[in-house]
Amino acid sequence: SIEIAGVSKRFGEFVALDDVSVSIPSGRLTALLGPSGGGKSTLLRIIAGLERSDSGRVEIEGIDATDLPPQRRNVGFVFQHYAAFKHMSVRRNVAFGLEIRKRPKHEVAARVDELLKLVHLEQFGDRLPAQLSGGQRQRMALARALAVRPTVLLLDEPFGALDAKVRKELRDWLRRLHDEVHVTTVFVTHDQEEALEVADEIVVINEGRVEQIGSPDDLYDRPANDFVMRFLGPVT
Ligand code: ATP
Ligand code: MG
Repeated sequence: SIEIAGVSKRFGEFVALDDVSVSIPSGRLTALLGPSGGGKSTLLRIIAGLERSDSGRVEIEGIDATDLPPQRRNVGFVFQHYAAFKHMSVRRNVAFGLEIRKRPKHEVAARVDELLKLVHLEQFGDRLPAQLSGGQRQRMALARALAVRPTVLLLDEPFGALDAKVRKELRDWLRRLHDEVHVTTVFVTHDQEEALEVADEIVVINEGRVEQIGSPDDLYDRPANDFVMRFLGPVT
């Protein structure tokens, strides 16, 4: 699990996270859901080690990660606007994390084949990222994040920039991928429908605080407060 205990984060006077404690279960697909500016990305970045909290602790699968740099946390991440290496083929982009870890060539090649198959890009290995569609590029990004077999996969609105149809496709596909790979996955979204449809668990975050954590059914049937009820309710 990912154990977040008493995490606070300020930017100047502004409190982005206010004493957040939450336990994110292992092997599940968990959504961080909430309105814009609520602190979702900040919390994800603190889990990734890209941002330091002012106080509190982060434990990832039993290891105290509070003071570890990102590369020692064994996490993979994908952001909304994914930065691929434009001059490298899809294969080399996926292989990148393995190559910098100096894994043997044959092992890298086998792993990349396996990953391209997993994300259904086996025919596109020799293309450049610019020659892929937006959805294909995000799948490449996921393959790259998974390459080093992270214990945790962190996704910050990975499908946010895509149109509704592709978004829905990728959402279903992420669900299937997760059912296959079972890596502990935390994904950020401000779209309640997306969270309700895809996630095993939902953490509702608003104004730097956790409003509720529970399964989609829990939240929908038993919202903890007015905020959760209104936020999950039908869009009017
Ligand atoms: P969105 O859905 O719009 O991405 P979010 O829930 O991801 O929102 P965060 O990016 O975590 O929100 O930001 C939380 C708050 O902290 C916002 O009010 C934001 O302006 C502020 N904030 C985030 N990063 C910084 C920063 N580097 N400097 C100053 N303020 C920041
Ligand atoms: Mg954000």
